[in-house]
Amino acid sequence: MSEIRVRMAPSPSGFLHVGTARTTIYNWLFARHNRGKFVLRIEDTDTARSSREMIDAILDGIKWLGLDWDEGPYYQSERTKLYQDYARKLLETKKAYYCFCSPQELEDKRKQVVAAKGEWKYDRVCYNLSDREKEERIETSIPKAVRLFVPEGETIFSDIVYRELKKENKDLDDLVILRSDGTPTYNFACVVDDVEMRISHVIRGNDHIANTFKQVLIYKALGIIPPHFAHIPLILAKDKSKLSKRHGATSIGEFKEEGFLPEALANYITLLGWSPKEDREMLTIDQMIELFTLEEVNPANPVFDKEKLEWMNGEYIRSYNNEDLLDLIIPFLKKENLINDDIVNQRRGWLIGFVVLLKERCKTLKEFAEKGKYFFSFNYQYDPSAVKKLFNSPAAAKMLRTFWESLYPIDEFKKEKIEEFLRIQADKMQIKPSVLIHLVRLATTGVTGGPPLFDILESLDKEEVIKRIQKAEEFCRDNS
Ligand code: GLU
Repeated sequence: MSEIRVRMAPSPSGFLHVGTARTTIYNWLFARHNRGKFVLRIEDTDTARSSREMIDAILDGIKWLGLDWDEGPYYQSERTKLYQDYARKLLETKKAYYCFCSPQELEDKRKQVVAAKGEWKYDRVCYNLSDREKEERIETSIPKAVRLFVPEGETIFSDIVYRELKKENKDLDDLVILRSDGTPTYNFACVVDDVEMRISHVIRGNDHIANTFKQVLIYKALGIIPPHFAHIPLILAKDKSKLSKRHGATSIGEFKEEGFLPEALANYITLLGWSPKEDREMLTIDQMIELFTLEEVNPANPVFDKEKLEWMNGEYIRSYNNEDLLDLIIPFLKKENLINDDIVNQRRGWLIGFVVLLKERCKTLKEFAEKGKYFFSFNYQYDPSAVKKLFNSPAAAKMLRTFWESLYPIDEFKKEKIEEFLRIQADKMQIKPSVLIHLVRLATTGVTGGPPLFDILESLDKEEVIKRIQKAEEFCRDNS
């Protein structure tokens, strides 16, 4: 087989969407599996909708996912002359023709046809002009676009995922390939670049199937054999509609901010539409490279399941050693103003202890900052439903007081010691230890669940624990 060359060709009119990210991964995996080349091309011909900010976000997103590219990024906005040269060739061979119709004329005609319940298709008035009429118009500098002449017959291509796909040419318009301002349309620029970049396989979303028919016609007109095509099923939301903003995070940057790990996200989205023969789920990038084939892409549209992604992210979090995991968590703690550089430098051992206590309980890096807030700050509200149940009587306030008073004599504030003291106090108060445990947990963390209480108390240290329980005692009195 000749060299495998694939490309990713994002339009920078939005951030890196999960769907685009998955197409990027599939292209990249296919290239790496086959020892081919992965080319990056930015389709920025629509200058009004493209921006440098989006381009940077796309490139950063691709790199963050752990992917790289062998060539590019090429920018279509810098290649206009090339597209014009190709269009000229098609004009010379009469596979394309000038169209002098103004947008207004076309719109008026379209409206008329639609009003009469017909289907609008360009009526070829410009194709049917006599040579003299054409020359006259060219001489008087009437703005002109270039249209592809679509011959009769049918257009067929074989897709690696969807098998044979066919369309009658009569259902296709003579498409504009060069606008009157000399810029190429998407389908034309895409074909020219795929030819020039010697792309062997075009792997992209199945929303492009309609474009592929048009592109195959352009290849035919150019006398060039098209590349192989593999259209990837679209990712749907749980309600079976197209995954979009209203379903939550959709861009790679947002997932990063929510605390997902790149390897977990890459693993999860790769499985949206593809699975290896043996049903394995946790796959490293190297394993995916080894196993990935386009033949195993499932044509059915996969559903994005955030809970599944969270589960997988949690698995990846637990596979990290504590030191490395802490480094990943630090930016999230800083963002919430829970720590500063001094704490990072001076209390690393303590921070590692925090990571150990929460590691089993967090599915995202951000959750360490959310669920573990109370380790760093006393700035929390007590869970209101727990307040109703626990902080509701003078008796509860008294229990809290007896307990914090008993803590003073403990020299070594270690979990075993604290537990021993708590049990002794419960015994003296003639209550079950669990009653006191629940009260103390709510007092010192504001919530009813979390890591083992005595670990938390040891981590907070004696003075802080006493301060928190005193505060809770006051609250309890005011509340009862
Ligand atoms: N610029 C197109 C897009 O972002 C690329 C389609 C293709 O891969 O040909 O959808």
